[in-house]
Amino acid sequence: MEVEWVQRVPVHTERMREIRETAEKLDIYLTCHAPYYINLNSPDFVKLQASKKRILDALSMSELAGIKSVCVHPAFYMGMDSKKVFETIRKAIDEIMKQKDKLFPHVNLALETMGKPVQFGTLKEVLEISREFGIYPAVDPAHLHARSNGGLNTKEEWTEMLDTYEKYVGKESLKCMHIHFSGIAYSIHGERRHLPLLESDARWQDFLDVLKEMKVGGTLVSESPLLEEDTLRMKRYYETVRYC
Ligand SMILES: [Zn+2]
Repeated sequence: MEVEWVQRVPVHTERMREIRETAEKLDIYLTCHAPYYINLNSPDFVKLQASKKRILDALSMSELAGIKSVCVHPAFYMGMDSKKVFETIRKAIDEIMKQKDKLFPHVNLALETMGKPVQFGTLKEVLEISREFGIYPAVDPAHLHARSNGGLNTKEEWTEMLDTYEKYVGKESLKCMHIHFSGIAYSIHGERRHLPLLESDARWQDFLDVLKEMKVGGTLVSESPLLEEDTLRMKRYYETVRYC
């Protein structure tokens, strides 16, 4: 289950203990979505500091709530050169990761692959930073499908995507992935909005086949507007797929 802190991070630590105990009792694996109002490439110092604080708050509250991984939309390019932006993000992540031992020793910081070409977050960008800091990204194949205006929608392409993932962050990391999936509407400008699976062009069954074939473990969060319905649709299909 994904805990939605997309508007703001809660402040009551007692409530975090309740979340942790409930999740443990029901054996539910928790991830979290950090607030949308984050731009680690903001030229405005105040906004940059506020972005870092939101990420640190989400990570430290997740530590208390027993949440395993926190996904973050890292930044916008703001018309700047992507290599320069990469360095800026790297530096911000470095500062955040310096607090890991103190604030969030058991929580993963998952930079998300993003759906619009104006957003920082190609697969290679998030993998490169993740490798450096010993973390793993939130892989959203629907975003990558939209970002490339219809690419990444076949078994071959998803296999290649996971091979790349493995090459960067290691074989073991395939066993505890943080994945998002949904249908998606897009244009040459990338993502427009998320769609229910059956109203989209997503070859979602093929995607689940690939996860099974490559023995991928971890968690897959449904980001469909038909949240529960599509979660069950994917779960039921996944359970029918046999290992090759
Ligand atoms: Zn997201």
